Amino acid sequence: MSKVLVIGESRDGTLRNVTFEAIAAAKKIKSDGEIVGVLCGDDNLEELAQELIYYGANRVVTVADEKLGHYTSDGYGQAVKAVIEDEAPDAIVMGHTAIGKDLTPKIASKLNTGLISDVTEINEEDGETVFIRPIYSGKAFEKKVIKEGLVFVTIRPNNIPALERDESLSGEVESKDVEIKDLRTIIKEVIRKKSEGVDLSEASIVIAGGRAVKSKEGFDSLYELADLLGAAVGASRGACDAGYCDYSLQIGQTGKVVTPDLYIAFGISGAIQHLAGMSNSKVIVAVNKDPEANIFNIADYGIVGDMFEVLPLLIEEVKKI
Ligand code: FAD
Repeated sequence: MSKVLVIGESRDGTLRNVTFEAIAAAKKIKSDGEIVGVLCGDDNLEELAQELIYYGANRVVTVADEKLGHYTSDGYGQAVKAVIEDEAPDAIVMGHTAIGKDLTPKIASKLNTGLISDVTEINEEDGETVFIRPIYSGKAFEKKVIKEGLVFVTIRPNNIPALERDESLSGEVESKDVEIKDLRTIIKEVIRKKSEGVDLSEASIVIAGGRAVKSKEGFDSLYELADLLGAAVGASRGACDAGYCDYSLQIGQTGKVVTPDLYIAFGISGAIQHLAGMSNSKVIVAVNKDPEANIFNIADYGIVGDMFEVLPLLIEEVKKI
């Protein structure tokens, strides 16, 4: 029987949504195969394992060790590699997140196997599983097939919808002992920046501001709209470089890649490096006072106008809903 492993990722004790999307992706790779979730951590993995089962995993293997309390590529690399060697899967799926981008190539190279990264679509074509991924900053897509052997796949968040959560599903949870040794990095503590609401890379609505926002205070209005819509706030590098917001908000080639259902850009020119991070958003709305701004070339809806006039009107209207 074929088998696909899904490596789970959690933050602050909660599984990231992309893990559930990875289960759906695993089902697309081997619809009749066994989906085995893999969870690493220091403790309390049973509850998370159960969630994986509700989202479609047939079985979950947990590796608990105090050295796995925080992610390190050394520690997680050893744990996941041991599970892979034990389970001998046909494929391994994980989110194309900071951790997924770090962990999967490391293990794939150790196992001398292939890796298809940043996949946005998986289809069946002529009896083959075809993986589609954007290239050249989203200007083109390439299709890849796996001819033979084990393969790692990372999937871009927000592209392959997770399956419905179903509490009637059941499956085994097994714990596996792995000796984690010789860690070169030990994380003592993680101090997170104060959370600014919805996680940008997984948000279904993103409100982004550019250099035209002009100040930190200008970003407050973007946050106001974001709060009303349950959205995350993002930014262009122009806005980050000007010191109006933190670099953690930067979207683009050297920032985060987002694919929300709705992306609203205020005062962003639409430089190619910015488009690289958001052009796959489902619906793009742009507000810019320059009718020739490049962002209008990819926008589904455009408002040519001053964002300082448009934004308050939009907030006012949304408040009425
Ligand atoms: P600007 O280019 O200054 O555009 C501001 C826009 O606001 C203009 O279109 C203007 O018409 C409009 N405007 C002005 N006032 C108003 C108003 N009152 N109302 C409405 N509209 C108004 N950029 C990224 O964003 N992300 C990246 O990851 C990234 N990586 C890069 C990597 C490299 C190697 C390089 C070289 C560049 C990178 N850049 C990146 C920078 C990128 O090239 C642009 O410089 C940047 O995106 C510009 O930001 P902006 O659109 O906010 O600013």
